[in-house]
Amino acid sequence: MKEQILSIISMRDIADKYGYKIKNNMICCPFHNDKTASMKIYDKSFYCFGCNKTGDLIQFVEYLFNLNFKEAMQKINLDFNLNLSSNIKIDYDKIKSIQEEKQRKEKQKNIIFQQKCDILLSYNRYIKYFSKRINKNNWENYTHIIAFLKDKAEMLEFELDNMY
Ligand SMILES: [Zn+2]
Repeated sequence: MKEQILSIISMRDIADKYGYKIKNNMICCPFHNDKTASMKIYDKSFYCFGCNKTGDLIQFVEYLFNLNFKEAMQKINLDFNLNLSSNIKIDYDKIKSIQEEKQRKEKQKNIIFQQKCDILLSYNRYIKYFSKRINKNNWENYTHIIAFLKDKAEMLEFELDNMY
């Protein structure tokens, strides 16, 4: 079954099928937090320059859906209507619950991201507010507050940059 799949299906087919946008033979790696497309796809295999994950296209499906190698072959068989004879059973509930868990985490992350953005916005508003009120009588107090807020804002920006 492995040889049959590898002779019919390409890594490009797999990326297309499971929603990975290909640009110059590169895709965003699903196995680490990849902001730039750092996974190179070859005819039948893949390699990620970010996390060094590598394998053939069946292994890609195996890792992506948390299956074993046989289940991954069967998933490809079914998803691409290859009609290869097989008696491998796939636990679709397992796949579904893994995908739901992924979506739930992603949603939670987006909410936290939005909250942090709101806080950053208010820090910047306060910085502007205090900056306008600096004069020669109070500059010492205000520059202290502004430096404090700028520190906080910078930390938050750093956190936001590293969330995705
Ligand atoms: Zn990677």
